[in-house]
Amino acid sequence: MIRFLEYHPTQLQRIVDETWTTLYSLVFVSAVLIWIYEAFIPMSYLILWIVAQSIYILLRYVNAKALKKHMANEDHEKMKLHARVLLLLIIFSALLWNVGNIVGVLYAPELYEFVSLIMMMGIVTAAAMSLSTLFFIYSVYFFLMMLPQLFMLTQYSDHLHHIVIVLAMIYFPIVFMFSRSLYKSFLVSIDHHEELKDHATVMHRLSVTDALTQTHNRRYLYDTGRKLIVEAVAQEQDVSQLMIDIDYFKKINDSYGHQVGDEILVSIAKNVQAMIRSSDVLARVGGEEFAVLLLNTSVEDAKKVAENIRRSIEGGKFAHSNGHIIVTVSIGVAGLNNEVLTLDELYSKADARLYQAKSLGRNRVC
Ligand code: GH3
Ligand code: MG
Ligand code: MG
Repeated sequence: MIRFLEYHPTQLQRIVDETWTTLYSLVFVSAVLIWIYEAFIPMSYLILWIVAQSIYILLRYVNAKALKKHMANEDHEKMKLHARVLLLLIIFSALLWNVGNIVGVLYAPELYEFVSLIMMMGIVTAAAMSLSTLFFIYSVYFFLMMLPQLFMLTQYSDHLHHIVIVLAMIYFPIVFMFSRSLYKSFLVSIDHHEELKDHATVMHRLSVTDALTQTHNRRYLYDTGRKLIVEAVAQEQDVSQLMIDIDYFKKINDSYGHQVGDEILVSIAKNVQAMIRSSDVLARVGGEEFAVLLLNTSVEDAKKVAENIRRSIEGGKFAHSNGHIIVTVSIGVAGLNNEVLTLDELYSKADARLYQAKSLGRNRVC
């Protein structure tokens, strides 16, 4: 039974989402019932029933509110607890309808058991729509509502016995199977949805990651960088950009092979990543070119970061079977100011400074 009560959070979410519709329908159906029986049933019973129904509606509302809160906080223990409270409330509701029915049938003229039967069938079918996502709770509701109804019908005349047989043989299994198939297709759709979500996450990560160095790529720099810079300009914060280009990389490739070139690229990317903050953005924007956005960093501080990176790469020798390879980089630095207010302006400024560093002899920061 406990296993039955296990559920996926999305199932509960759906129940909560549909609570308001359920409660509106409940008020409507109750009003219809009262309108039908009001002429026969003593007023005190009617009022008692309305009060009990109102308490139920209030409790369902409070329960849904609590579930919503615990779902937002992902508090699974509390969610489980409130799912059980929901089960108790559903049992209470079924009992309430049964009491209403029994009183109705006792006081109303004969043939009114038909009316209560039709009402029960309608309520049970509506519940199949909203509750079948928690199939166990729905099943409890279904049997609690229909078994007393069947029993009631057996107490009346012969033609009602036929209805009992028809109900038991056709309507019960159909509604039950209908509810179960809703439940199953809901589970399948949850699975598919989660699978799609996982795929989308992976695809998104791949689409903004450079396959070789695992840093971000140009697309990420442009998508995220633009937003970051708009925010920074609005909040008058500094952002600086470094453009890092490996010196004479073509020669390295030619002398040691493309494979060694790739390893150097990966190693430099790691090196740079380790020297910036995790909130900064590092992206490979060309074959042997990296861009870095340094958030909350003035040009003066960015120059220091650039100089540290340059020195660290110059000093870090790359082991190779024929000895060590010395790699150097040139770096252009630029920062936001009154004339440089967008990523594109910042980018071209840093790029121009990189070009300057190259023409001044390489292995330097400009
Ligand atoms: P400079 O100092 O002026 O920057 O000279 P450079 O040789 O680095 O510049 P250039 O832009 O002429 O050459 C870049 C070279 O980078 C050309 C290409 O062979 C190499 N390259 C580009 N992408 C990759 C890559 O993914 N792997 C490897 N191994 N090499 C690459
Ligand atoms: Mg180069
Ligand atoms: Mg280049």
